Amino acid sequence: MNPITAKKEFAISEKEAILEELPIIDEECDRDFIKEIIEMGGGDVQVCLQCGNCTGVCPVSLKTENKIRNIIKMCQMGLKDKVLATPWVCATCHRCFEHCPAGMNPAELVIALRHIIVRQRGPPFFVVSISKNVADLGQAVTISEEISKLRKKLGLREMPFDESQRLKATRDIKMIMRATGYDKLIGIALSD
Ligand code: SF4
Ligand code: SF4
Repeated sequence: MNPITAKKEFAISEKEAILEELPIIDEECDRDFIKEIIEMGGGDVQVCLQCGNCTGVCPVSLKTENKIRNIIKMCQMGLKDKVLATPWVCATCHRCFEHCPAGMNPAELVIALRHIIVRQRGPPFFVVSISKNVADLGQAVTISEEISKLRKKLGLREMPFDESQRLKATRDIKMIMRATGYDKLIGIALSD
């Protein structure tokens, strides 16, 4: 098969696969969703050409079922419930933005979707526990006994490296959380 024909056939079968994955059922389409995304800072998804560059360079799309182009397509179609079930898997590395010919920033779109979820449906449990860790410990993950042992075995320093720095950092983090209302939004009680 000549390469141009092969490319065309691939494009057609790929398009069909997307349409099969995303059946257009009118009742599922929220016509205000595109506007809502713009208001949350996610940009105008209508500019997306569906070229697939973003998916091609996205580390998450390459390793999981979450393909960023599909998420954008669902946003264009107003499939709000489907979209809001998927946007957490993104490393916000911005590679997609660097390769987008339409000037769209899918990473900002994902951040906007996260804002919409937290405000309208409440934060997922892992966001609450990570936020609490950041406020209390100054880091997202707790250092379990197992991790401490492993660090020791690998010859790494004991954590925290500097307790006074950690206390200062967590004080600042809590101040920012209070000032921005993040603690209330996520629903965590901050200690003094
Ligand atoms: S690279 Fe840009 S135009 Fe292409 S599919 Fe991704 S967001 Fe859309
Ligand atoms: S910012 Fe998110 S969507 Fe974009 S390339 Fe990185 S992981 Fe993929």
